[in-house]
Amino acid sequence: MCAIEQVNQQCRHLNLASLITVLPELLQQAEANELSYLQYTDLLLGHEVRQRNDKRLATNRRKAGFPVEKPLESFDYRHQTTITKRQINQLLDFDFVDNRPNLIFIGPPGVGKTHLSIGIGIKAIEAGYKVLFASALSLVESLEVAELKGELKKKINALCKYDLVIIDELGYLPMNKQGNYNLFQLINALYEYRSIILTTNKDFTAWGEFFVDENVAVPIIDRLIQHSRIFMLGGESYRLKHKTNA
Ligand code: ADP
Ligand code: MG
Repeated sequence: MCAIEQVNQQCRHLNLASLITVLPELLQQAEANELSYLQYTDLLLGHEVRQRNDKRLATNRRKAGFPVEKPLESFDYRHQTTITKRQINQLLDFDFVDNRPNLIFIGPPGVGKTHLSIGIGIKAIEAGYKVLFASALSLVESLEVAELKGELKKKINALCKYDLVIIDELGYLPMNKQGNYNLFQLINALYEYRSIILTTNKDFTAWGEFFVDENVAVPIIDRLIQHSRIFMLGGESYRLKHKTNA
């Protein structure tokens, strides 16, 4: 077996298959630049580390389940003036994930709540965190399915594997008592161990009615309010404005 084949085989054996395709190029680079042994080792390992990192980020991005690509870079703070770029940038040290004050975006439809939470979610993934984005409705549905199978706890534990769970559009639709209860169980578990971003069109005062059962609503609201940074977003709907401009 020639030397390169042997190296390739060892790469496969060590699960370094991605190195095989770039090896000729890296060898050429080493040759052309007269790299030292140490520099070449660094080049080789650096490539593998970057490759694995990119793969992990891509996987986490896919698992996050963002419905659309909404990077923070495309958010226009001239339109949305009830929050500043600095306020959002300050969140990107992810102290809110590490030390768990949750974030709540409250405001009418179209003011950018979902856009901001996806944008922050994308940055969190880039910073190495595991993120899940889900609408409140789909979360409640999946909790219900799990509950019917007697696997609510398992499902909640699985959701608690994420560092950050974004619950979008809480309060848009009413849900039944069991739905509320399941969601409470989830928020309760997340609140202790993980971080939440919540978007809602409802002011807290109206949450009681949305949660149907005040006994369930009050503890959820208390917990969330005590440990959250709340951003009240206002202004004109971006969608409507752009419709009129069109
Ligand atoms: P909300 O969740 O508050 O109802 P969205 O975040 O879904 O609103 O915003 C509605 C649409 O308008 C989305 O396509 C979003 O990208 C866009 N949008 C809202 N606010 C802004 C903004 N300030 N800059 C750029 N796009 C925005
Ligand atoms: Mg939204």
